[in-house]
Amino acid sequence: RAKEDGKNTYQYYKSALDSNSYERLLMENELHGAIENDELLLHYQPRFSIDRTSIIALEALIRWKHPRWGMISPGEFIPLAEETGLITKIGAWVIRTACRQTKEWMDNGYPPVRIAINLSARQFLQRDLVASIQSVLKETGLPPEFVELEITESTLMKYEETILFSIEQLKKMGVHFALDDFGTGYSSMGYLKKFHIDTLKIDQSFIRGIGTETDDSAIATAIITLAHSLKMNVVAEGVETEEQYNYLKEKNCNEIQGFYTCRPMEAEKIELLIINHMTKVKAIKPITV
Ligand code: C2E
Ligand code: MG
Ligand code: MG
Ligand code: MG
Repeated sequence: RAKEDGKNTYQYYKSALDSNSYERLLMENELHGAIENDELLLHYQPRFSIDRTSIIALEALIRWKHPRWGMISPGEFIPLAEETGLITKIGAWVIRTACRQTKEWMDNGYPPVRIAINLSARQFLQRDLVASIQSVLKETGLPPEFVELEITESTLMKYEETILFSIEQLKKMGVHFALDDFGTGYSSMGYLKKFHIDTLKIDQSFIRGIGTETDDSAIATAIITLAHSLKMNVVAEGVETEEQYNYLKEKNCNEIQGFYTCRPMEAEKIELLIINHMTKVKAIKPITV
């Protein structure tokens, strides 16, 4: 079962390495040591309210800084990590690092901001996923309301029962959930209600076509309408232009994330952004649920 799913994920990502088994083996070998050798790091990308006055959340995005190969993006190694099972260890590192950083910002007087963390389907196969998240929250002292877990539609469909149970437990604790890359998978509308997902993130492929592809604009609008009819929050991913922004604003999309407002950045630069942002708008509005 796991093998089959891993294969699908791998094909889905169309990693540049999938045709070259030697490079794959080499990378797998190197990835094993990446955590111990302190080669992994997180960048953070803000999600802004549609009026751009508030940062609603920061998404943690992993990078691998290899001593010889340089910076490697998650698209290149996450599929491999999923396939080999290393994702469990890497995922745990991401959760711990992101929560610790967020609590540190809180303790240092930055306005509290929610952290959005990407979860792979395979992490739900870990029987102790809920317990391990719980222990990170306890260890760091970060309140669960400040954590949002991003999962994809395929994750939701793949391990329905196991996942439903884990999501329910995490939701009871106060953790938020977002459906990432929405519109690219095959989720049934009923799932959105059944799983009590808080937020839909419109996949960036639809945002890219706004203004040029009529279908993409229509799909983006339909997702916004769907989210609002279900009383869900909706975020546009990959917003790059003013035209896209204006369109989304007119359609009452709740939040935007993308190069138009801010690229993913290392923690130190995020701190400067938050400080500048605070002085510009005087105060950041409290997070609304
Ligand atoms: P995602 O969760 O959908 O993240 C959004 C991706 O879009 C990020 O790529 C981000 O850098 C990029 N992006 C943001 N704004 C724009 C924009 O305006 N234009 C364009 N062209 N791209 C934009 P990144 O960081 O390379 O991550 C790719 C994917 O890797 C993520 O997609 C997510 O599925 C996965 N990923 C990243 N970090 C983690 C992690 O810690 N754990 C797991 N399991 N997956 C991760
Ligand atoms: Mg994401
Ligand atoms: Mg996405
Ligand atoms: Mg993605």
